Amino acid sequence: MDTVFDQIIQGKLPAEKVYEDKNVIAIKDIAPKAPVHILIIPKKPIKDLQSITKEDLPIIEEVILVAQKLARDFNIEEGYRFLTNNGISAGQSVFHLHFHLIGGRKMGILG
Ligand code: 5GP
Repeated sequence: MDTVFDQIIQGKLPAEKVYEDKNVIAIKDIAPKAPVHILIIPKKPIKDLQSITKEDLPIIEEVILVAQKLARDFNIEEGYRFLTNNGISAGQSVFHLHFHLIGGRKMGILG
């Protein structure tokens, strides 16, 4: 079954898009944990970080460049988190690879 992110990518579900190109989409998180909380999502349906193969790496490079651009655009360049949760025990809830770009507030080691 398609995840919510597949449905957003396909335009079947609405989302606040902040970036899109052929391979990558970025949307505002529906339940932000900080003033800036963006999800950067490769359009290819990769389940999680652990499922990335060597042939996917060019897409991951793109994701990193998009993260840098959005950090500049949203004025959080001086400090932000860029992370992915891999697996249920790490807190992953949507099983389509995505990276959280989080910033705009002071953060501690885990929170
Ligand atoms: P995970 O828990 O898998 O690392 O991250 C999933 C993230 O997706 C969560 O932060 C959650 O708030 C966000 N999310 C879940 N459903 C939707 C949705 O329909 N739209 C948007 N924009 N974000 C969503």
